[in-house]
Amino acid sequence: MLLAHLTRRRLEREAAALLRRRRVAASPCAPLQTVDDGRGGVRELLNFGSNDYLGLASHPDIAAALADGARRWGAGSGASHLVTGHSQAHALLEGELARLLSPWVPDAGALLFCSGFMANLALLTTLGAEQAAIFADKLNHASLVDGSLLAAARMRRYPHGRLDLLDAMLRDCEQPIRLIVTDAVFSMDGDIAPLAELLALAERHDAWLIVDDAHGFGVLGANGEGALAHCGLRSERLIYMGTLGKAAGVAGAFVAAHPLVVDALLQGGRSYIYTTAMPPALAHALGVSLALISGGEGAARREKLAALTAALRARLSDVIARRPGCGWRLADSATPIQPLIVGDNAAALALAAALDAAGLWVPAIRPPTVPANTARLRITLSAAHTLSDVERLCDALAACRPEVDRHA
Ligand SMILES: *Cc1c(COP(=O)(O)O)cnc(C)c1O
Repeated sequence: MLLAHLTRRRLEREAAALLRRRRVAASPCAPLQTVDDGRGGVRELLNFGSNDYLGLASHPDIAAALADGARRWGAGSGASHLVTGHSQAHALLEGELARLLSPWVPDAGALLFCSGFMANLALLTTLGAEQAAIFADKLNHASLVDGSLLAAARMRRYPHGRLDLLDAMLRDCEQPIRLIVTDAVFSMDGDIAPLAELLALAERHDAWLIVDDAHGFGVLGANGEGALAHCGLRSERLIYMGTLGKAAGVAGAFVAAHPLVVDALLQGGRSYIYTTAMPPALAHALGVSLALISGGEGAARREKLAALTAALRARLSDVIARRPGCGWRLADSATPIQPLIVGDNAAALALAAALDAAGLWVPAIRPPTVPANTARLRITLSAAHTLSDVERLCDALAACRPEVDRHA
């Protein structure tokens, strides 16, 4: 019965052009990457799909720090943080992260997690107690949605960016604890949440603002401190979650918040407590990544990334303007996430396939990751790209056959 059911579901997925597949990389994460060709061989593709915004994932200094960390600390942590797995390497990194975020979150404490998904589960289930209400943007990341569903608190979702509706929901709220939850940079659209306005609403309605900065940490802010620095916010009501596997190029995540919030996560966050601590060598390598991010090299990489983003937007707008009726739309984004919205699932897949044939790797993102009829190519840029990489992508899009556009 189970297998028949799974087979039927898989066929349905396939018919709706929703089947997901992985590709096997045969070289490190970088703009030019060797991947399997599906026929037993490999080929080189120009990658526009990673979240390695600063190009740190294969930075030699970080890789060397990882090797050093392994020599010093071995491979594994051996246990969860609360049992015997918490090391000096973890403690040092938490201290650095707390210091980095403290201009925006006064007296911040920081807590490390193995992943952003686990950090969000801990945050929402721990803070979202029965007396709480959670207010979430409809385009929030899946981990925030799942954390809210697991929480005892009542969850209400407001349409993307509709602060007027959020304001009304908060006004009607009877629960004494109120949590507003938002992506800082929306992962599939690239737009930055109106964080100043959200914080003003939080202050007006005695609520707290949980900011998931998976795509802003390292990228936004003068020193890469993320979206809070970018928006110039400072408040005790801010609860910040940053990830360390995207711009920071390694793995893991952290929460920076009021020390009592951090302690509550440590005392009661099940996805913090009941899991093995990240290998100390990773924490050691992350120290080097943070130093790069907040130093001159990070600033230079952010500057290059901004220039590539501007160039891509200018050239791609031009490509779209020359194809009237193509139905393509460039999302309104100022970050390195630059989605080209196509609409139909099969059309998005066909466009990704046409780019693949031209040697470009751009993932097609379909529902339920994005709303129905907004399937897209999620183009992401990295400081490791060159201007000629961007030109190659735009030229390839300009050369795609028109029938690819109107696959529906
Ligand atoms: C990637 C992502 C996460 C999850 O972080 P991981 O460290 O990859 O588990 C959480 N929130 C958002 C918005 C993300 O894009």
